[in-house]
Amino acid sequence: MPSLSPDGPDRIGEAVRLLASGGLVAFPTETVYGLGAAADDPAAVARVFRVKGRPTAHPLIVHIAKAAALTALTPELSEAAERLAEKFWPGPLTLVVPRGAAVLPSVTGGQDTVAVRVPDHPLALALLGAFGRPVAAPSANRFGGVSPTTAEHVQRDLGRAVDLVLDGGACTVGLESTIVDLTGAAPLVLRPGGVPLEALSDALGETVHEGARDELRAPGGLPSHYAPEARVLVCEANALDSRVAELAKLGARVAVLAPAEVPVPGAARASLVVADPSAYARALYAALRDFDAQGMDVVVAVPPPASGLGHAILDRLSRAAAPRPESD
Ligand code: AMP
Ligand code: MG
Repeated sequence: MPSLSPDGPDRIGEAVRLLASGGLVAFPTETVYGLGAAADDPAAVARVFRVKGRPTAHPLIVHIAKAAALTALTPELSEAAERLAEKFWPGPLTLVVPRGAAVLPSVTGGQDTVAVRVPDHPLALALLGAFGRPVAAPSANRFGGVSPTTAEHVQRDLGRAVDLVLDGGACTVGLESTIVDLTGAAPLVLRPGGVPLEALSDALGETVHEGARDELRAPGGLPSHYAPEARVLVCEANALDSRVAELAKLGARVAVLAPAEVPVPGAARASLVVADPSAYARALYAALRDFDAQGMDVVVAVPPPASGLGHAILDRLSRAAAPRPESD
């Protein structure tokens, strides 16, 4: 049975045996929980897509224990890749590099590039180190839903479809990694995340921009993603009172998520205030899940300032708030 208590290194042996025999192991990282499979096992990789309900064209991130393992996954290492790996790994940065011959095309959704990361979590690093092979792992939730930041979230979303859930407590960053594509003429951020754009620009000595090279590269880049059951509205602090009052008048149960300096309107039925952007990032996904569990109809979120980590938070809030094609 999967475990719900914080796990120590003693569970690693079991996790390694499962991965080696084609099993799926969910594991904590500093960003969100990942649903791991041996990246060189086609059947295990296929199972990840099935369990998540994820379209097979959407590539998975490959997790490794050490930056040195990157050379086995890509034919050439650019100077930028080396510099970013050295500066930010282990950490919430995913590098998209040319795909090496050893990487299964199913892992990359058929693309000629591969996304790679060294996560910054003791259990993840112990698992990857002991397994000694790359692990393909998307977020351990159903496609399109809210990412899991605790082992309990994974249990609730995926239950028995996963062979083992390693419990490493709540994720310390709480938002997915920043994905930077290094395969073009200039580095391009495909998804903002735990490492701010400003930090990448500093490290590379050039302004790093955000954008898309093509539509299918990052599902986190789809307009609607990370969405809870409740409707999500993004609202500036000065409009919060009137917005919440309006919705409450219509009979909606309204929850508010806001920075601590913003007063919570009396008409809100539930609320969470957060001290700063990193607390916001850590609390965001669990808060969306909690508000769903409390039966809230609408979550009105006041975003943090849009710089640094705030940029990634605003990105996730906007996608959670985007119209959902499947429900129209
Ligand atoms: P998830 O962990 O569910 O957020 O999924 C992993 C993220 O990494 C998705 O947004 C993928 O599209 C992205 N990703 C994985 N491989 C690549 C790649 N080769 N190029 C661009 N994005 C990628
Ligand atoms: Mg995901």
